[in-house]
Amino acid sequence: MTPRRRATRSPSSGKSQPRVVIVGANFAGLAAAQHLGREYAVTVIDRWPWFEWLPNIHELLSGVKRRADLRLPRARLVKRAGHRFVRAEVARIDAPAGAVITSSGRRFPFDACIVAVGGVDETFGVPGADRHAVSFKGVDDCAKIGRSLAALAKRAGPCSVVIVGGGFEGVEALGEILRRYGDRPRLTVNVVEAGPRLMPGSPPAIDRAVRKHCARRAVRFLTGTRVTKVTPAYVHLDSGKPLHSDLTIWTGGVKAPPLLRKSGLSDREGQWALVTPALRSKRHDNVFVIGDAAGLPRPLGKQAYYALQMGVCAAGNVERMLAGRRLRDFKPSAKGMLVAFGALDTFLIAGRSVIASPALAAAKEAVFQVTMAQIDPPLDGGALRGAARRFLGSARGRLLSP
Ligand SMILES: Cc1cc2nc3c(=O)[nH]c(=O)nc-3n(C[C@H](O)[C@H](O)[C@H](O)COP(=O)(O)OP(=O)(O)OC[C@H]3O[C@@H](n4cnc5c(N)ncnc54)[C@H](O)[C@@H]3O)c2cc1C
Repeated sequence: MTPRRRATRSPSSGKSQPRVVIVGANFAGLAAAQHLGREYAVTVIDRWPWFEWLPNIHELLSGVKRRADLRLPRARLVKRAGHRFVRAEVARIDAPAGAVITSSGRRFPFDACIVAVGGVDETFGVPGADRHAVSFKGVDDCAKIGRSLAALAKRAGPCSVVIVGGGFEGVEALGEILRRYGDRPRLTVNVVEAGPRLMPGSPPAIDRAVRKHCARRAVRFLTGTRVTKVTPAYVHLDSGKPLHSDLTIWTGGVKAPPLLRKSGLSDREGQWALVTPALRSKRHDNVFVIGDAAGLPRPLGKQAYYALQMGVCAAGNVERMLAGRRLRDFKPSAKGMLVAFGALDTFLIAGRSVIASPALAAAKEAVFQVTMAQIDPPLDGGALRGAARRFLGSARGRLLSP
């Protein structure tokens, strides 16, 4: 079924323009915006003004990166694509009425909507996790952890950091703590992971390599252990004695945001939005869901490069839908994932294979530099300054490393 069109008129040409609203403007939403033509009246809505490069936020813990290195101004990027950016919290998507409604009650009518709202922290209902542990989900979170670590390192007595989650985020967090504070024997780091080993979904060689790097350091791994409660000074475990914690970092993964259920895009709380292979919602024909928020028929890893690819695919499919043409299925092109372990190692994971080498850190940095330049090509003063700052920041950050 092709949705009914209620296009607006272009102020410059007087021609009618179909209205597209994009909710969420990070990897997936921004890629979609940048691939939608100017013949559409596109409104891009996000609650925050900055695009954030999440795959390197762990480097804020050691100071290798600064906040500004990892952010780009959404208003400028969206304007350059010829569209309108609105900073607002979206409360609901009313697909049958064709409108996005913000928490302040503003309505944005659409002919097609692209939903790219990512995920929220999965705390598994652990009491105190949302109040007493610091999330590892955004630039501000990681900058806050960086400041807390710096303050702890100045303390005279012993102190303890607990990382909840031994997935790739937990491993990257540990690596950055060791990069900056690995020579402080009074600082103990505990990593708690419910699975039987670190990065349970990846080849076991990574678990072995990380443990080997940490053999003579003040690091304890508690695998096969669940957190039952978090208080300001303790992390309680299902396996006995609570861990004292001066700083608890939560890297427990992501789950679907409530907005998806509230908007009828999923059937129950915590479920990703159900989409067809063409990324169209199975519940509403005028909505596409992309990036982490999409629950594809064949599940994919929640990764930035898939989110970028989905953004491009959804932009094309919105154009096809509005022109009454057949949609194309999303065909992900798989890439290896680079997981950094501070200055000690970097792992390239491709399926069941893994390559480990500190030299791979340069590849991770190159992906960051190149993709940021693709998202924000250095064509004007602001973008050029940003690119130069990121490049110089990279050199400064490497000098910081032992
Ligand atoms: C610490 C960390 C490290 C990672 N490392 C890697 C890596 O090395 N490689 C890799 O490929 N992937 C990595 N990822 C995963 C990757 O970052 C995600 O897959 C990617 O961010 C998903 O993009 P997205 O656009 O779907 O969602 P997000 O990037 O989460 O963006 C969602 C956007 O929607 C906005 N939004 C949400 N709800 C609303 C609302 N109600 N109203 C308005 N705006 C809203 C948010 O503000 C946000 O800007 C990492 C993730 C984290 C957290």
